[in-house]
Amino acid sequence: MNKKLIKQENTLRDIDLKKCPFCGYSYKEFKEYGFLGCPYCYKYFSPFIENYLLKIHGRLVHKGKYPSSFKKVKKNKKLMELEKKLESAIRNKDYRRIKEVKSKIRRLNETS
Ligand SMILES: [Zn+2]
Repeated sequence: MNKKLIKQENTLRDIDLKKCPFCGYSYKEFKEYGFLGCPYCYKYFSPFIENYLLKIHGRLVHKGKYPSSFKKVKKNKKLMELEKKLESAIRNKDYRRIKEVKSKIRRLNETS
């Protein structure tokens, strides 16, 4: 194996380890299962996925296939923010805040 190939292998492994910051879905899982965890995955992995889709389909899948509901992305984003707030409240042992943030998370989960 020449050096260039080895380098390419390593790059591929790096891509495998990439994870969607929203749902934690990895590129490796995408290759295994052929679908993605959340709409944001598409955005996050698109530079790699485009190559991959080109390889398996011979062409790019039409953008209309984007399985997203932006509402869900927005909700996920909000949830992540709240979870961060919750973590810091727990760290600070701010029980009033913990309760407040938890109820916000609950409310957010109820509305879908
Ligand atoms: Zn995702």
